[in-house]
Amino acid sequence: MDLVSRSEWKARSPRNRLTPLPSARGTKIHFVGSYVNPALLQDCGRCTALVRSIQAHHIDGNGWSDVAYNLLVCPHRRVFLGRGPGVLSAANGSGLNQGHYAVCALLGDRGLVQPTAGMLNGLHDAINYLRRHGAGREVLGHRDGYNTTCPGPVLYRWLQMGMPVGAQSPSAPSKPSNPTKPTAPRFPGRLLAYSPGKPLARGEDVEALQRRLKALGYTIDVDGVYGPMTAATIRVFQRTVGLVVDGIVGPRTWAAAWR
Ligand SMILES: [Zn+2]
Ligand SMILES: [Zn+2]
Repeated sequence: MDLVSRSEWKARSPRNRLTPLPSARGTKIHFVGSYVNPALLQDCGRCTALVRSIQAHHIDGNGWSDVAYNLLVCPHRRVFLGRGPGVLSAANGSGLNQGHYAVCALLGDRGLVQPTAGMLNGLHDAINYLRRHGAGREVLGHRDGYNTTCPGPVLYRWLQMGMPVGAQSPSAPSKPSNPTKPTAPRFPGRLLAYSPGKPLARGEDVEALQRRLKALGYTIDVDGVYGPMTAATIRVFQRTVGLVVDGIVGPRTWAAAWR
């Protein structure tokens, strides 16, 4: 992992003492959310300059102690140390910073809006790094639980798809990789759904569905458990094929998967 220290990017010292946060449920992903110059792609020096300007904006403009994020990730797979691991961020919204650390992708809502493979890999590097320093498994977008469009449509869909890095990322596979069409297994006769706090649906039917989605080009774990990632993938699938997007597999969604 290509970690850029604060002295390397010439960070200013925090204005006030930062609050420790030794552990959290997981990580929330952000983007810059304004214009980002695509010239960044050709010159990582511009990434460093952007990180510095974000810090200046957060300290001088917002009056915060430091740049809001724990880490920032550029298109060249470099991970800039913001507040660093084990520290309370200021990015997720008041009351939401204890639950998750914050990682910002140097991606805009205009200009540079498509993440490079380097950026997606860098996000994985950042998430894994935070996990080695107290972050739980959960990875969400800033908009989960807060009224914002952050981290933008592309990264958010990427999160919903289970953060694939490779051929089919980051947009939904509108053209499946031409899988041979197997006969549809019979609809299992129960609705497959995920609701937090309820027992997860498990079984061969779930596994068959996951295996089929994988063959269609989706990035999904074939583990026979209908968890939040499977439900999110189903929502992307339902949107792609024009079904009602509810994350619930009934006879229609089941049939559509083998159509
Ligand atoms: Zn955000
Ligand atoms: Zn860069």
